[in-house]
Amino acid sequence: MKNDYVKLIECFSTFQGEGPDSGRRMIILRFKTCNLRCPWCDTQVKMRISMEAEYKLENIQKTIYDTNSGIMVTGGEPTVPRHYDEALALLRDLDYPIANVESNGFNLVKLINDVPKSKTIHFMYSPKIFSKRDADNAIELSEKLLDFDNVYFKIVYEEEANIKYYCVWLSEKIRKMEASHKVWLMPEGVTRVDLIKNSSIVFDASERYNFNFSSRNHLIYGFIWKVVIKIYIETNKHYFSTEHTGICVVRRKGEDDEDLIKRFRKKYSKSGLSRELRDRMYFEKRSDKKRRKRSQAIRLREKEDEKQEEIERRTRLRRFKLRNKNTRREFKNDKSNRRQSSGRRTQED
Ligand code: SF4
Repeated sequence: MKNDYVKLIECFSTFQGEGPDSGRRMIILRFKTCNLRCPWCDTQVKMRISMEAEYKLENIQKTIYDTNSGIMVTGGEPTVPRHYDEALALLRDLDYPIANVESNGFNLVKLINDVPKSKTIHFMYSPKIFSKRDADNAIELSEKLLDFDNVYFKIVYEEEANIKYYCVWLSEKIRKMEASHKVWLMPEGVTRVDLIKNSSIVFDASERYNFNFSSRNHLIYGFIWKVVIKIYIETNKHYFSTEHTGICVVRRKGEDDEDLIKRFRKKYSKSGLSRELRDRMYFEKRSDKKRRKRSQAIRLREKEDEKQEEIERRTRLRRFKLRNKNTRREFKNDKSNRRQSSGRRTQED
């Protein structure tokens, strides 16, 4: 099936901010929905407040040629059923020098197998690990993904037991395959301050596991705001906007490019930006709360598991002692029986 349009919440030209292709000029093509809700997700605000608009593949292609950019297919999660066909259409039907696909692994293996092998695509697998089960699932999927040359691993690193467990496994695997260029650790955080604060532990971890370090430059420099206007004009479509959409302006009937740019600049002047930042700050508070709750729940579960293990250990020990006691008693009884019977035999003799 050939798609002429794709539904996205963002389509703009900027630079890749993280991973092996960091710094390359790319058109960001962002889908709206995701199967997960990561507490530190830096796009959840956009996913929540932005409206989808239809983007013509033809216009995206024109922008690729004009700007000599690659494309970055991201989200949300591009491989969820709602976006799968459109993500495939972007990768299959467009002509680009390079593509990045960012995924939490949901249906990534299928997408890798479905896209034409002639295309230059780097698939970025970013496992989301919040529990032991997540780590085990990530290991299972990574086993498959390591078979593909064009898959890279981008991990948001925190000093957390399950993430360390996964990293130890991956580090061992990568060492055997001599493929340390495949793995990139990134600091956690949705603001510049958090990123810089959290970077030092990621430097140490990258050294320890023999991985690469990646910053998240789009958050550090905020450079997406500088080039966002251009694509909206070039694609020449109408964009939906609500009071709090944050990234769109609607071309008014008969409005020319100059007026549209003027209105856009006004809307995204310092006050526009600070509104977005205010949204983010609100989001950070909520996510911090969520994150605290989640880690409390994990800690509680781990404590309960430990308690359960301790109970089982003690029960096993008690049973073992009881068994020993019984055996000793039986042995003693046996011995005294033997002694008695030999005594009886001597008396009878
Ligand atoms: S998988 Fe990615 S897009 Fe989805 S919630 Fe997590 S960080 Fe955000």
